[in-house]
Amino acid sequence: MEIKKLFNMIKKAKHLVVMTGAGVSTFSGIRDFRGKNGLYKDIDAEKVFSIDYFYEDPSFFYNWAKENIYDIDKKEASIVHNVLGELENRGYLKALITQNIDLLHQKGGSKNVIEIHGSPSTHYCLHCAGIRVSYDEVAAVVRKGEMPKCPNCERVIKPAITFFGESLPHEALRAAVTESQNADLMLILGTTLTVYPAASMPEHTLRTGGKIIIVNNMPTPLDSRAEICFNDLGEVFEGLNGLL
Ligand code: ZN
Repeated sequence: MEIKKLFNMIKKAKHLVVMTGAGVSTFSGIRDFRGKNGLYKDIDAEKVFSIDYFYEDPSFFYNWAKENIYDIDKKEASIVHNVLGELENRGYLKALITQNIDLLHQKGGSKNVIEIHGSPSTHYCLHCAGIRVSYDEVAAVVRKGEMPKCPNCERVIKPAITFFGESLPHEALRAAVTESQNADLMLILGTTLTVYPAASMPEHTLRTGGKIIIVNNMPTPLDSRAEICFNDLGEVFEGLNGLL
């Protein structure tokens, strides 16, 4: 059957790379930005993640983020995160590229995580070079309902998440392209492949002779070029979990 075939491909791959999108976050209860229960339905994501608005009023972001980003202790990694962590642990998975900013891959045991939309794992000052403040330090402040401040200038610091109006992190992008080119197999999970640059990663893999497998609950523009397409993340990962 198809999941067995997938598992054999994973075991045989010399350089397996996984790319994940919002569907993988949704799976553990975090709502998809664009899906039918999308965050866009009840929050103004354009405003929450607007760099211009962050300059104007950073409390708008932090008030929302308190319950949605700085609550990792309350969130559970899903079977998808855990199986991916285990695949890396066993040496099958070489790199994981993600569009997600929820730190759940790390919670699931993944080590080589390339976060192409940035990450709340670190924070920086918009005015002072070289200032870095960790997720844990900021989370402790935000949970008290306060704004995290720069230890140097006392102004509010910003997470290293890519906001609207900012450019994507160069290092992460470069690493993602290199991994995609090196991949002889790319597993694409929970992304519709419509947003660049994520959408271009499997194209790098295909161009250098690699194969792709897609697991998504909606069609993607690359379905016709995939070795196998699945639509149910839960079914695939419960299957893989059983075979591991
Ligand atoms: Zn500062």
